[in-house]
Amino acid sequence: MDVDSTLITGEVVEMLAERAGAGDVVAAVTERAMRGEIDFATSLHERVALLAGLPVSVLADVTDALVLTPGARELLAELARRDWPVGLVSGGFAEIVEPLAASLGIRRTVANRLEVADGRLTGRVRGAVVDRARKAVALREFAAAEAVPLGRCVAIGDGANDLDMIAAAGLGIAFNAKPLVREHADAAVDERLDAVLDIIDRSTPPATDLSPLSAPSAHPRPDEVS
Ligand SMILES: [Mg+2]
Repeated sequence: MDVDSTLITGEVVEMLAERAGAGDVVAAVTERAMRGEIDFATSLHERVALLAGLPVSVLADVTDALVLTPGARELLAELARRDWPVGLVSGGFAEIVEPLAASLGIRRTVANRLEVADGRLTGRVRGAVVDRARKAVALREFAAAEAVPLGRCVAIGDGANDLDMIAAAGLGIAFNAKPLVREHADAAVDERLDAVLDIIDRSTPPATDLSPLSAPSAHPRPDEVS
């Protein structure tokens, strides 16, 4: 599952940028990136550069200010009840995604890391950017680690950088998504995140179904289910 504008409302990079006095500039770049109009990695570097000089304390401030999407707690509670593993795949920042995941009982996360020097953000990320391609790789890694066939995985996201993981998963769901993402997802859900449960329950074969699990074609699209 994606994090910004999917599990949580809003975009963390914008929340950080507001504290650097660059909120409007960063929000405009984010919007274009999520629509797929500009390269995600390039845009991330541009946006993170505007965070240079912020004290690391802003990371905890922003973590405390996160607001879960309506229905997120209900969705996670139901997935936990079913013992279905959940992973977070974020083009945002591990320094915020990891404590968020821990607070929600989610063990698997992949996100970018912010470089820090002398207690301040340098305006750079460490290591390779978690972009569209890396998000799909992360989904495959999570699936392998949990021994869940990719065809039984569900990917949920709102932005253009979620397109590859949405395509790779057996069921890809666009949430409050940009038009480009809606077009390429198996299903689209708006407003409440726990509404994905209806889609999942209508499209996931029962556990006793022994049909080939890794073939996405074995899964009827939600709109084909009577
Ligand atoms: Mg997002």
